[in-house]
Amino acid sequence: MKMELYKNDEQQRTSERPLILAVEDNEDNLLIIDYIVDSLNYRFIGEADGKKTLLIAQEFQPNLILLDIMLPEVNGIDLFHSLKQDKLTAHIPVIAVTALARVEERERILEAGFDAYVSKPYMLEEIEQAICHYVKQD
Ligand code: MN
Repeated sequence: MKMELYKNDEQQRTSERPLILAVEDNEDNLLIIDYIVDSLNYRFIGEADGKKTLLIAQEFQPNLILLDIMLPEVNGIDLFHSLKQDKLTAHIPVIAVTALARVEERERILEAGFDAYVSKPYMLEEIEQAICHYVKQD
């Protein structure tokens, strides 16, 4: 797991900035999302191991989860259901990020109840807009 650490005198203030969790087994894609989240001045957790998704979400309470559907060992749709069935994480919006481009796959994802869907390859702006739409700054 990769996490930003803040040790400066703005720690109190920065700890209130929105936190984005991205679960993605492709390191390059994770770096891209990290870059976008940084540019928005939000906090970021990147995780390649989908099996850790629920525990991380429970512990860190991200404002938004970007969830890859095609993960080794686990399926993003199953992870989504786990998140929605847990009272600690049910409220967190989840955006599916996936290369599953076929129409029936997209319908399956949206029927599962994901808040939104971003298909790979995506433009940086698509991810940025999706994050901004679901993260409301006070
Ligand atoms: Mn993947």
